[in-house]
Amino acid sequence: MIKVGVNGYGTIGKRVADAVRAQPDMKLVGVAKTRPNYEAEAAVRKGYPLYAAIPEKSDAFRNAGIDLAGEIDDLVMQSDVVVDCTPSGIGEQNRELYRRYDTRALFQGGESADAVDASFNARANYDVARNDDVQFVRVVSCNTTGLSRLMAPLDEAFGVEKARITLIRRGGDPADASRGPINDILPDPVTVPSHHGPDVNTILPDLNIDTVGVKVPATLMHLHSVNVTLSEAPSVDEVRDLLHEESRLFLVPDIAGIGGTGQLKEFAMDTGRPRGDLWENCIWDESLSVEDNDLYLFQSIHQESDVIPENVDAIRAIMDAADQQESMEKTDENLGVGLESVFGGVRKRITPRNADD
Ligand code: NAD
Repeated sequence: MIKVGVNGYGTIGKRVADAVRAQPDMKLVGVAKTRPNYEAEAAVRKGYPLYAAIPEKSDAFRNAGIDLAGEIDDLVMQSDVVVDCTPSGIGEQNRELYRRYDTRALFQGGESADAVDASFNARANYDVARNDDVQFVRVVSCNTTGLSRLMAPLDEAFGVEKARITLIRRGGDPADASRGPINDILPDPVTVPSHHGPDVNTILPDLNIDTVGVKVPATLMHLHSVNVTLSEAPSVDEVRDLLHEESRLFLVPDIAGIGGTGQLKEFAMDTGRPRGDLWENCIWDESLSVEDNDLYLFQSIHQESDVIPENVDAIRAIMDAADQQESMEKTDENLGVGLESVFGGVRKRITPRNADD
């Protein structure tokens, strides 16, 4: 049983905690919070032991009537691995804390690649974390995860000569009231190419990829407009068959009538996905086109959740508890990853189970 602590219980942290709880080979030691807000209340309601992330603020929890299981040092001490889900830049500062107790740690995409021993994507480079010398691993960002999952099979099957991606990025998460734009379309970053391509290269170092970014007034998902020049020119059906084999790629069938990210999220909620999460890249089947050696497609990425299965796999990888195939299959089975439309004639469970099931 791998003992897992979660430090930082926001958008990513709460989902990681739920996902860890759904794995029979893992035990959630607890979650660390900075303050006793509504998310702390939700953690208590779920029965997660709560630890004060900032010891000096422990009294705030007591004053709010919330019992603490301890402070952050206690959580780190008891955990085999801590998943650090704190805001960008804080994770790097926490490395000393994890070193103090010789505890392995996973960081998120907001941290710099230089702050860790390895950057991780389960599909593309799982084994990079299975090394005794690796203490700190970064699960790359939502966009980099979505691109790595797509590029790895395309490169293996047809060879990628050059990938060019326009990332149409949501302005903020639904709960981020202070983010924007509210009524604008921003080149973001305005410099071309954007940093996303080099970030994909921390996973797939030899991939020839250029990216540009735009930010729009939306909160639900990102949209990638993808153009890949391939070494071999496949048919659309060959591409479709290849992508269909990947459990973390969902080919959105045209017959489903899903026309955008709003309807994708509605589909996820209607089918019982927790928080309406879409762990898979959502690739519009109708957008798949091949012109000579150029493949085109649109894919949407649910920024709040596509990295969650990857965090679960990174836990097993950094603990060397399973090989790539075993871990990805376990994660997919326990969470219910592998969304398929019933229009394809295949029904799959799409909701996670609890560890006790
Ligand atoms: P968030 O703001 O929703 O959650 C962060 C949580 O950490 C908050 O609850 C905050 O109160 C808490 N926190 C702040 N300082 C802390 C400290 N010192 N110790 C412990 N907890 C602390 O942020 P998020 O969106 O979950 O992002 C976390 C990380 O995940 C970042 O690196 C981010 O770049 C990355 N990420 C975010 C998304 C996304 O779309 N939200 C997607 C992929 C990766």
